[in-house]
Amino acid sequence: MGSVPQQPFKKVEKRLAGKAALRTDAATSARMGRIRQSGTAPELTVRRAVSTLGLRYTVRNEDLPGSPDLANRSRRWAIFVHGCYWHRHEGCHKATTPRTNTDFWLNKFSRNVARDAAARVSLKRRGYQVLTVWQCECESGTRLTARLARLPQS
Ligand SMILES: [Zn+2]
Repeated sequence: MGSVPQQPFKKVEKRLAGKAALRTDAATSARMGRIRQSGTAPELTVRRAVSTLGLRYTVRNEDLPGSPDLANRSRRWAIFVHGCYWHRHEGCHKATTPRTNTDFWLNKFSRNVARDAAARVSLKRRGYQVLTVWQCECESGTRLTARLARLPQS
């Protein structure tokens, strides 16, 4: 998919994880929960691919449940671009579990997963078709195109 420089997405995640691991108190946890990366490499890849399909979208849709990364209100679809680590891509090698403070992390991960599921349900209730694209799927142009082919064409 071209040669756009890749943002060190994994590095950012590791840095955030490293900081939180030092202080795993409630305040840190709350702060971490609010951290939302926007314009990450996988997200930019998805935006590009969606544009290539000729579909229009808006980004940072904070008025919609879960703030989908891309959305089209008139066509009623929403896309979440999820980091495999934070959002626990099942069976993915990127979804590792830290060996220290394991309970804390498992707890945090399960809250993320629950929040994601709630957002999807909420959007579907509003008549949205919801697509979750995983970070690892963005590494392959064909895999990504296959996923996006399910979106209603405009
Ligand atoms: Zn993955």
